[in-house]
Amino acid sequence: MQNRWVLISQSKALIALLFLILLSGCAPKSEEEEEEEDDVVTASSSTSSTSWRNSNLPLTLKTATAFSAAERTVAGDMMTQWDAADSRDYYASVSTTSNKTYSNLNDYADGEFGIYKITDWNSSLPGSALAITQIFGEVIGSQIIITHADILVNYDNFSFDTSTGGAGYDLSTVLLHEMGHFLGLGHQSLSISDSIMTSAITADNEQLTLLSVDISSIQSLYNIAPSLTAEDKFDSVYSDSGEKLKTGTRVRIHHQLNADYSCSVKIIK
Ligand SMILES: [Zn+2]
Repeated sequence: MQNRWVLISQSKALIALLFLILLSGCAPKSEEEEEEEDDVVTASSSTSSTSWRNSNLPLTLKTATAFSAAERTVAGDMMTQWDAADSRDYYASVSTTSNKTYSNLNDYADGEFGIYKITDWNSSLPGSALAITQIFGEVIGSQIIITHADILVNYDNFSFDTSTGGAGYDLSTVLLHEMGHFLGLGHQSLSISDSIMTSAITADNEQLTLLSVDISSIQSLYNIAPSLTAEDKFDSVYSDSGEKLKTGTRVRIHHQLNADYSCSVKIIK
């Protein structure tokens, strides 16, 4: 009788052991393991606050010498628009740099912030994009702090003009929009008459000044952003699969203005 009980309890122990082995095999992977598998996560522009540190302002955004003198003047004028949004200067004076057409998009983090005239659009970027602002940043708590950014304008698939009523997309409008992304702003679900940060920009649009929504957006971003302790004012940085991105995670963000009015924000880890 005693032997039988021992046998039963041994069997129970064995079953329990097998169950535990089975369970550990099915256990969810640690966050570390999951991070290695996920390369690209998408997120809506409203999921986090993205900004430069206030100590980085004003930013020296250089215009490539590949642009004509008239095009470089437009770039300077649009920077002035953002500077006029409040008492702070967002952009330093206009200067030039050589044109950069790196085949590896990571190479753009070269220490120089530029607006580049791309006549050979990178094959890893969608051809439908009029322009892309590529941002390099680091997740700090619930914010993404920008460490580097550039504006790539797609002269390969589109034409841009600097004159009123000219053929092609209005360069002022496109640059004013991209400079907003450069500063950290996302897209607004509004028409072009209400915000330069709309994704619905047509070749006919000539919006050379910021609108009240844009001015209040940039003011609120930089009136709050300087304090990294004010994290609870923002949502946390999450991927669309619900994964919270940890402090120290380095990311790239692509703000993509499409000719077909679609808007996309891609966070690449
Ligand atoms: Zn955009």
